[in-house]
Amino acid sequence: MRVPSHPTQIRRMLTSRLKQLTPAGPILAASLCEVSKRCGQPSCACHHDGPLHIAHHLTFKDDGKTRTVYVPQDMLGEVRTWVTEYQRLKALTHEISQLTLALVRGHVTDRKRRQGRS
Ligand SMILES: [Zn+2]
Repeated sequence: MRVPSHPTQIRRMLTSRLKQLTPAGPILAASLCEVSKRCGQPSCACHHDGPLHIAHHLTFKDDGKTRTVYVPQDMLGEVRTWVTEYQRLKALTHEISQLTLALVRGHVTDRKRRQGRS
């Protein structure tokens, strides 16, 4: 994103982004990882050179420690949506913060420009 220098443009970009800041549903601040693993059935093909099972888990930081939570297969689609929603809001919040910072940085220049005009 290119941050414009004029406050009117900055505020216009801010307004459009602030409107998008509403979550469409639950938000999950975690990474979704795919892993191959063997199951608990010793007779299963996965224990006899057959294909392994695909499983998914979430990893996230909790008090500085990395935690892992297993994702049930029938929740995968939903969980993926929640993680994607978190990433969307996180990126959006970052852009909003950059634009707001540009307002602070540009304030003095803007005030001088206005005073010069009047
Ligand atoms: Zn198996």
